[in-house]
Amino acid sequence: MIAPWLADVVLAESSVRGPIITALFLFACACFILSLKWLSAPNTARKGNHIGAIGMTAAIVGALISAHVIQYQWIALGIFIGAAAGVPMALLMPMTHVPQRTALSHAFGALAAALVGAAHYYMEFRAHETPAHVMAILATEVLLGSLTFTGSLMAFGKLQDLLPTRPMTYKGQNIVNISVLALSVLCGVLLSIRPDWIALFPVLILLALAFGVMLILPIGGGDMPTVISLLNSYAGLSASLMGFVLNSKLLIVAGALDGASGLILSIIMCKAMNRSFVNVLFGAFGQVQQTATNGEKKPVKSTTPEEAAQIMEAANKVIIVPGYGMAVSQAQHKVRELFDQLTKRGVDVRFAVHPVAGRMPGHMNVLLAEAEIPYDKLAEMDDINGDFAQADVALVIGANDVVNPAARHDKASPIYGMPILNAELAKTVFAIKRSMNPGFAGIDNELYTSDRTLMLFGDAKAVVGSIAKELSEANGN
Ligand code: NAP
Repeated sequence: MIAPWLADVVLAESSVRGPIITALFLFACACFILSLKWLSAPNTARKGNHIGAIGMTAAIVGALISAHVIQYQWIALGIFIGAAAGVPMALLMPMTHVPQRTALSHAFGALAAALVGAAHYYMEFRAHETPAHVMAILATEVLLGSLTFTGSLMAFGKLQDLLPTRPMTYKGQNIVNISVLALSVLCGVLLSIRPDWIALFPVLILLALAFGVMLILPIGGGDMPTVISLLNSYAGLSASLMGFVLNSKLLIVAGALDGASGLILSIIMCKAMNRSFVNVLFGAFGQVQQTATNGEKKPVKSTTPEEAAQIMEAANKVIIVPGYGMAVSQAQHKVRELFDQLTKRGVDVRFAVHPVAGRMPGHMNVLLAEAEIPYDKLAEMDDINGDFAQADVALVIGANDVVNPAARHDKASPIYGMPILNAELAKTVFAIKRSMNPGFAGIDNELYTSDRTLMLFGDAKAVVGSIAKELSEANGN
């Protein structure tokens, strides 16, 4: 690749400079669109990631050529600081912490957008007669960037258990929140009319920063996936608006793609968790209740991997339900061994993937793809829910909330209304987990005490490995 500063010198007064920049930006936009398309299916996701990175490299080179950079040391320092923060984050944070990592990335992206907006205001806008619409765009960018920055940091804190995951609510909270947002919007409107009212600018930023915190505090941990993708959408919108401010078509396109994809994902997540989108937008998340404990506990039946293997040997149809515990124990490769042994015996094995299983959208798909489980064996919730009743075995591996029948009938349950996988309808249910501890929502699961359920207590990797070994011996391997 041509070093950008070399390109800057070579292309300095050249007539090809403009077309080269346009071609690079066009190429970057095409890469981003392809990346989103490929990222939406497990078998092309890796390719999607690579093409996105190629597009981003083209965009950076194009931006450096077009910007007539005079001093590269600040850019080099920025790259160094970014790499010093990003590389350890990528290497040290485990797969199960990707949602936190995503929240931090949003925070940094949004902070960048807000800072660029603020710099532009102080350097150029207030000194000149700025058209109202341009100032309105800049104010919106700074507002969205600032609230996304603190909102994402709060989401990070909740997911990393640095802050309480339970909703923190008080009476009249929505009114206070909406008032703070309305005040910051008012500052933006006034600045659009009078850009020289400098004192209002820091007030707008402070109010937006405060709103970001207030927006996330009342949200319970169970709603975090929706919030993260919504913040992703805000960060994208902010970047897109920054494109208008900087007159960069590339940023407008890239930010719009980011904003739209985040919004679409939020809607999908809302449906999967049974939250209304309006409810999410207005931050009315305070209604989530604490665990409903009802005195009498039903007995739990447990079994051994040997017995489970015997029952599965005789099965025709097995549905595997992976959940967060599979990710924690990194059991996906053992699950692949189990899948191989069962299919070798002619058992029809499929995987039921709940949209919010694990801790990030697509979490289970990524892990199962890593273990090279055929994609056509993965079924989405709506496609497979009708099949549980005909299944001989439902093998629940470290999944809890996504198979909790309370979501259907217990109005007091925090997950009431969330669509769940019908694992309890299978003839026999095996549930692998280490204890009777609850899952993410912090509630008991009546599936574990159902007459059809046999618990397999232990680490998912060890238990699945033992079942696969038993089957392998039975298969004469
Ligand atoms: P879950 O309800 O969190 O339950 C996971 C279960 O795995 C726990 O009950 C735990 O029980 C077990 N486990 C943990 N480590 C294990 C290990 N090493 N071996 C075996 N079992 C282990 O998980 P889920 O059913 O996948 O549901 C996901 C939840 O996360 C939902 O409430 C969803 O709303 C929320 N959420 C989803 C996302 C997303 O985007 N997918 C993001 C954030 C939050 P033991 O401790 O007894 O082993």
